[in-house]
Amino acid sequence: MAGIGTQGGKAGSHAPRIVIIGAGIAGILMGIKLRQRGWDDFTILEKADSLGGTWRENQYPGAACDVPAHLYVYSFAPNHAWRTRYAKAPEIWQYYHDQAERNGVLPHIEYGREVATCTFDGARWTVTTRDGETYRADVVVTGVGRLHQPNVADIAGAETFAGPRFHSSQWDHTLDLKGKRLGIIGGGSSGVQIVSALADEVAKLTLFLRTPQWVFPLPDAPIPLGKRLKYRFVPGALEAQYRKLEAEIDERAGRGPIDPEVRVVTAQLCKAGLATVRDPELRAKLTPDYEVGCKRLVISGTFYDAVQKPSVDVVTEGIDHIEERGVVTKDGALHECDALVFATGFKAHAFLRPMQLVGEGGVTLDDVWSEIPLNYRTVGIPHMPNFFMLNGPYSPGGSASVVGIIEVQTGYVLKLLDRIAEEQVMLSPREDAAREWLDGVRELARTTVWATGGCNSWYLDQTGTPAYNPISITELKTSMAEPIRDDFEARSRETVAA
Ligand code: NAP
Repeated sequence: MAGIGTQGGKAGSHAPRIVIIGAGIAGILMGIKLRQRGWDDFTILEKADSLGGTWRENQYPGAACDVPAHLYVYSFAPNHAWRTRYAKAPEIWQYYHDQAERNGVLPHIEYGREVATCTFDGARWTVTTRDGETYRADVVVTGVGRLHQPNVADIAGAETFAGPRFHSSQWDHTLDLKGKRLGIIGGGSSGVQIVSALADEVAKLTLFLRTPQWVFPLPDAPIPLGKRLKYRFVPGALEAQYRKLEAEIDERAGRGPIDPEVRVVTAQLCKAGLATVRDPELRAKLTPDYEVGCKRLVISGTFYDAVQKPSVDVVTEGIDHIEERGVVTKDGALHECDALVFATGFKAHAFLRPMQLVGEGGVTLDDVWSEIPLNYRTVGIPHMPNFFMLNGPYSPGGSASVVGIIEVQTGYVLKLLDRIAEEQVMLSPREDAAREWLDGVRELARTTVWATGGCNSWYLDQTGTPAYNPISITELKTSMAEPIRDDFEARSRETVAA
């Protein structure tokens, strides 16, 4: 057994022992914040052999973040070194690695530890990993991400394909695609970035597009040297840029889902981008039949150029099956490919699962989440004392910066940890408080373009309700500024110990 729980952290006499699950942006942030307050008694369990979450896994050609780089950072660690408006996956990975290193988080991470179960015994959690290691903790915090389990489309005959085939987040970097015929299934943000990156490299690229998406044609651009120097040397310039971008994105991504006026402007720009596709037949294939913003906007200034290259073929006929030589569409045509990429997205509603949780009185996560992922303000789960999530179900969504969202949630969890440490209690959200909060979120979510825009998307849960909270970062900050004391059940640790 590793990391036997202690009553106190090293620096604070009452600091709880904490297990953090996941060493992505959220887990690293929680580690940094704990270290900043001198709470060193924590372990970060990471299933992979490296940190970085999304940015470790998504290293496909063209992988980049479509949130401006100067915003896609921890607010307390702005980065003057970005060279382009949008950062590429390896640079982002490096930034978060550097943050973990600079802030002393690396020694706290244990790699190759995929958590299988978390069991509450009335006083503490026992966290068990798939390789059989166990950890005891007063508090568990998860930062496991929302788009981390590949959704590899189940297409008949896929296993008979003769060439390499893989999901976009499991890219085979040993493969030389020069001169090859590449098939890409899926035209969401990942598929679009791959098409843009490889259209010139491969001999033939076939994009199998079941549903066209609205593409916001925002070009990437280098950051001029003058600006970079300003960000580096003028005090406050970088922070001001962060705040400016935060306000801009908040207006578009925060209000867009509920405010049609915001979407009118976005739609005009998307349509102008689409109009640059000269061939009317191709343009028709790329034209969505639902409202702008219904599916998450794809942001790309290069996609429409890429799909017009002679090497690229867009196939909107449905896929019937896959065979040894390639993909056969419903019209019987065989599209020969040497390699196949499934840019088919992620299991967006898995959240913590397949991890198993057993909370107070033997109540399991499957019990609490039998209908929908019931939770309180995205961070707490009824009947799971001292167990908190970052970027949990019903976090805000859209094209907002997930880093900013996670920072707000981390701040909130830290306030709960303060109470846990000061009062020596175990906290879990009251079930009625969770239901009331979630009912409000879902009611609002049903009014959004995500629900009413006439599309199907990974935002929607099995009831057709978006599992996202359509509020801005500004509203999130206000609503999570201070935990409502009475919304939590607090049980004294001493009572339990006695
Ligand atoms: P996605 O948006 O879920 O897109 C999956 C694509 O695969 C869709 O075109 C979907 O078609 C298609 N597909 C799924 N199953 C299929 C099947 N059986 N047959 C044919 N087509 C199938 O996934 P993603 O592109 O990986 O993006 C997921 C999310 O990750 C994005 O929405 C975004 O939030 C995030 N992301 C962000 C960035 C960034 O720059 N920040 C980059 C990449 C990803 P249908 O639409 O018909 O279902």
